[in-house]
Amino acid sequence: MNPRSSMVNRAEQDFRRFLCQTSAAPLAIVVERASGARVWDVNGREYLDLLSGIGVANVGHCNPEVIAAVQAQADRYLHVMVYGEFVLSPQVELARRLAEVTPGDLSVTYFTNSGTEAVEGALKTARKVTGRRQFVAFTGGFHGDTFGALSVGGNPVYRDPFEPLVPDVCFLPFDDAQVVDRVDSSAAAVIVEPIQGEGGVRIPSDGFLQALRTRCDQVGALLIFDEVITGFGRSGARFACEHWSVCPDILVLAKALGGGMPLGAFVGRPEVMAALSHDPPLAHVTTFGGHPLSCVAGLAALAYAERERLHDRAAVLGEHWLARLRQLTGEVLRTVRGKGLLLGLEFVDAAATQAFCRSALERGLIVNWTLHRDTVVRLAPPLVISDSDSTRALEQIAAALDVVEKAR
Ligand code: PLP
Repeated sequence: MNPRSSMVNRAEQDFRRFLCQTSAAPLAIVVERASGARVWDVNGREYLDLLSGIGVANVGHCNPEVIAAVQAQADRYLHVMVYGEFVLSPQVELARRLAEVTPGDLSVTYFTNSGTEAVEGALKTARKVTGRRQFVAFTGGFHGDTFGALSVGGNPVYRDPFEPLVPDVCFLPFDDAQVVDRVDSSAAAVIVEPIQGEGGVRIPSDGFLQALRTRCDQVGALLIFDEVITGFGRSGARFACEHWSVCPDILVLAKALGGGMPLGAFVGRPEVMAALSHDPPLAHVTTFGGHPLSCVAGLAALAYAERERLHDRAAVLGEHWLARLRQLTGEVLRTVRGKGLLLGLEFVDAAATQAFCRSALERGLIVNWTLHRDTVVRLAPPLVISDSDSTRALEQIAAALDVVEKAR
């Protein structure tokens, strides 16, 4: 064995031995570097990333403007104080920009390290604002894996082993406007993904989110939109809720927010967010939430996305992908749905889904199936994917599918 391949084997063995494993079959690409829509392994093999680190790399891996911002900030200061005490210009500036780009009159941001933490903060805020206990959530929904977020996750397979969770969660079927009446005045909040990601890229019918908005207003519950995966242009609008012109009381963000650095946030109106500052004061604290490196990365990513109008690019490219991928449907690939560059390929069964993913990986495409729906492959390429890489990705998807069809 040559020294390089023994080094690679060692890295993979150590990965399996020293890192807590969460999957029986991790993709286990031994990464050397990443740029734009491409990832290279240590053997020099190039992959087209059709997952973006699961919805993170909207502005591309190692976007040069993000890297420059991080490097410049690293020369100034890293962590200096827990969240909410010192005036840190990267946090202030990013919060100001979020007030400008988020829908409606959402204007006050709390920064966290991750999406699940932002969900925790949003749920706590809703209880504090309303003085109520109950949360309403949806089957197939995913909001993260800490206890509160898991408690509103809509798949019992992932909840049951960790019971008891947060009590008083009512689950309703997603995209059924008939059931919104079941939200009543015991609800502190309704939490929903405007498009379900891990649930299999499920796009609600027109009217569903508006029905939730109306019902929340009637009963005095807060409406929380979890746009952790759909935010920042992914769905072909800056935020997915804009497709239906519905504004939440609290918007939860993460993933692409940090431009590749860890960052989450929940954003609300001033009177809602004020709940965390009294009775008791410091009602929600974090040491690292809104880290200066993450906030400058987020600022650079947002500036880039706005200047390049990546949400428009996602909309145009998404239409093209949808049309092309729908031509491939048949016995194996049953349906294709999507909005912008968040697309779901629904396969006939889990075996076909897995065979497709293996075949795609062999062709240098990074893809995977969704957590709650093992018959759906989610595609979420960087929004900066070039036209030629886009064409290549679609060709390779067709070739990978062909292999699966012929093998059945
Ligand atoms: N909410 C949604 C919709 C997500 O897709 C995810 C992660 O995939 C989360 C919340 C949790 O985010 P994080 O992994 O940053 O905790």
